[in-house]
Order: sequence, then C-alpha cells, then structure tokens
Amino acid sequence: MAKLSIRDLELQGKRVFLRADFNVPIEGGEVVEAWRIEATLPTVRYALGRGARVILASHLGRPKGKRDPKYSLQPVARKLSELLDQEIPLAPDCVGAEVKALVDQLSDGQALLLENLRFHPEEEKNDLEFARQLAQLADLYVNDAFGAAHRAHASIEGITRFVPVAAAGFLMEKELEYLGRLLAQPEHPFVVVLGGAKVSDKILVIENLLARADTVLIGGAMAYTFLRAKGEDVGASRVESDQLELARKLMAEAEARQIAFLLPVDHVVLERMEEEVQTRVVRTEEFPERAIGMDIGPETARLFAARIAEARTVFWNGPLGVFEQPPFDQGTIAIARALAECPGVTIVGGGDSLAAIRQAGVAERITHLSTGGGATLEFLAGIELPGVKALTEKT
Ligand code: AMP
Repeated sequence: MAKLSIRDLELQGKRVFLRADFNVPIEGGEVVEAWRIEATLPTVRYALGRGARVILASHLGRPKGKRDPKYSLQPVARKLSELLDQEIPLAPDCVGAEVKALVDQLSDGQALLLENLRFHPEEEKNDLEFARQLAQLADLYVNDAFGAAHRAHASIEGITRFVPVAAAGFLMEKELEYLGRLLAQPEHPFVVVLGGAKVSDKILVIENLLARADTVLIGGAMAYTFLRAKGEDVGASRVESDQLELARKLMAEAEARQIAFLLPVDHVVLERMEEEVQTRVVRTEEFPERAIGMDIGPETARLFAARIAEARTVFWNGPLGVFEQPPFDQGTIAIARALAECPGVTIVGGGDSLAAIRQAGVAERITHLSTGGGATLEFLAGIELPGVKALTEKT
C-alpha cells in the first residue's frame, strides 16, 4: 500500500519533526562512520530547501533511559553542520519548555537536532504522553529512520497518533521500494546469499524467501549447522545443536520447491597442530576432527560467484566467514566483488555485509545498500514494521 511521501507535503514555514536514524559509531567525541547520516541528507536538504523548520530527532546507542554524556548527539550535530554547510545546533533535550522555545525561534530553512530520544525511558516504552509532547513541537511528521522502523517506540509509532499526517522521507521510500520489490516481483533468477552467526536469527527470512528465491547460498557459521544437519562432520565449528531439526526442515522445503540450496564445499579452517595453530583449506568431506571453520574456501567462493553472475536479482545479508579477522575475510570480500560484477539488481543489508562492500571498494556498483539491520530482516521475513504501518496512506 502506498504511503504518503514528503513530496506530498506543503512544507513552507511548517515545523517538521524529522525522525532520522543517526545511530552511528562515535569514538573520542567524533562520528567515525557517517553513511547513516549521509543516507538521510536528501530528505533534510529537500525540507530545508522548501522552507521548512526542521526538527531532527534520533536515538543513539543504549543509554537505558538516562541522560548520559557518552550518548549525546553532539558529535552528530557537528557532523550534520559540516555536511549541510549550515549550523545545526543541538537542543539540550528532546521535550520541555526550553526545547519548545528553541523550536519557536527557528526560521524557515533552519534546523536543529534534538538530544538523544532514549535519554527518556518513555521513548522505548512508546509512552503516549511523551509521544504527545514530541508531537506538540511540530506541524508535520516525517519518518526517514528505516533502520528503527521495526521498533514501536514513541518517536516512531506513538507520535503518529498526535500529528495530522505521517509521511515517509526519501530514504524510507527507497528502502520500501527496493525491499518491497524483492518480496513482490523479484526478477528471476533470484539468488539469496546468507551468512552470519546464527540460523536462529534468520529462520523467518529464510522461510519467507524460500517461497520466492531460485537459489539460496549459505555461508558463515550458519553453514555449519546446516552441514551438521545433513550428517557432515564439521569438527569444532560453531553449530547450533538446538536448530538441527529446523535446518533439516528448511532444506527439505527447499528441495520440495526445487530451489538450489547450496552449502560450502570447502572451508578455511583453524587447526591446532601440537603447539602451533595452522590455517588451511579443506573440503567438506575431509573436515579435520578438531578444526574450526572460519570462512568459505576458494572453491565455494567460485561456485557462489558463478550463481551470482547469472542472477537478475540478488539479496545478501551476513558475512561468509569471521570477516573481522583477516585472512578470514576473503570469502566475504569475494562475494562483495561478485555482487559488484552482477548486472542484475543487487541489494545488501546488515552492518558486516555493508562494511565488506565498502572494504572491497564496490559500494557504487551495488543497486541498493539497505540501512536497516534488524528492520531489513524483519521486513523481508514478511513482518509489518510498526514504523511503516504508522505512516499515513496515500489517498
Ligand atoms: P550476524 O550478526 O548474524 O550477521 O553474524 C555476524 C557474525 O558472524 C560476525 O561477527 C562473524 O564473525 C560471525 N561469523 C561468520 N562466520 C563465522 C564462522 N565460520 N564461525 C564463527 N563466527 C562466524
């Protein structure tokens, strides 16, 4: 169902509450990774350019409902000022008389950033009185925080009950369009690549995508649970023993639907030989007893890349190995490059996969980099996100 967009709003002179996802890594008082902020800039620039008075709001980290300078949005305010080439002051709080006075002083085309919403426990509790106070600051509400849309929090859900309209920002729109297309009408062949630590985190996504995909490629620690479920020996690799039954069920379903469900055929393993720890490549059928699988092997990377090369649509989430520790990043990097080469629509979600895409220097060659982690996975699992549901429908 189409949602109201910021494009549909008359913004001139209006106070616009713009919920963004500025939950970025900060070190030594500086933003160290700004892509989440940059992703929302088209919406901010558009609102400012149309003469809106923009009230930017976000959460940052987990301050547990208390004011904590470590989680202040001050570094974000500085980064925003730099990126927009316009002073974006930080309000001392997100509600209250002082904040209201600062908002009232804004001129058309000016913005301020509210302090961390999560300094108030009411934010995560979706407290309606708190939501009403946030809503009172503004005339219009725009949500661009796709990465937080799976949370029914006051600034995401509750607030929409107290504003005349709740519209999607450009980032929100783009996410819904690309991810929505994966579920509604993916061009075939549709290849899904999943990695990461646990099968249990991704069951619903796998189930929902099994109904749509032609090929599923599995790597990461997750692959060891599936291999074990097939009766393979995987040494001392990380296996979720309580998920073996489910893994069997998913593979049986893939078979019944005639979906190619590919597991790694070789692995980069860590093996303790007397005093020494060795890294080597082994095939699945010769997995050493005490070795730990750390990455997909080169043969698997080639097989997976060949499938990706033929795809018209690819979705990728989760590293194929312990990508934080070189040399176990090679499988993940190979997949990032394979996506870059693919002429079809390529969509990547999840922090580690996005980091790998950037590390491989191929971000420009990916169709859509999804800014959501949990939100992207829940959306693809077919769950209606509270932050999306709360947006006003287009009439
Ligand atoms: P997730 O958040 O579920 O996408 O999982 C990401 C984590 O999975 C990363 O921290 C990786 O180091 C980890 N991971 C990937 N492959 C393996 C593996 N073979 N063994 C252990 N952990 C892995």
